[in-house]
This record gives sequence, C-alpha cells and structure tokens, in this order.
Amino acid sequence: MLKPDRTFRDQQYWSGDSKPHTRRDGTPITLREWKSHCAECGRLFSFWRPTKRAKFDPNRRCEEHRRPGCRVTSRSAKDAA
Ligand SMILES: [Zn+2]
Repeated sequence: MLKPDRTFRDQQYWSGDSKPHTRRDGTPITLREWKSHCAECGRLFSFWRPTKRAKFDPNRRCEEHRRPGCRVTSRSAKDAA
C-alpha cells in the first residue's frame, strides 16, 4: 500500500492528478485530485481541491454518504434526524 500524502484526523489521503480550473470570479487556479476511503463505508473515492488552499479541508465521505454541512467529527451525534 502506498504511503498517504496527507493524513487528516486519522483519515489517509493520496494526491493524484492536477488540472487547471477557472473559478467563478474568473481567477485561474490549479485543482488537485485527492483520493481517500469513505469514513462511512470505506470505499475509495476522489475529489478535487485547489492546490493553494490555505487549509486542507478534505471530504471525509464518498458521494453516496456525503452530507453537506455535516462533517465527520468525534462528536458526530448530529446524524440523528
Ligand atoms: Zn461511503
């Protein structure tokens, strides 16, 4: 298994491709692909993040388990309806 490029709160991330992207305000930036295993189901998923982001703020879950505004935290009791 490859060594992860980043570890965020015990979740491992591997960096992949990068590609140019234009933000909504017209600013050209570079996006980098990151891969990780979903915190929910363990499935490999990927997402893109700007390379120049000050804070590494990665997705924790795959598309299927992603819940906008609901982060994986140690106190994840907010999942209840
Ligand atoms: Zn999942």
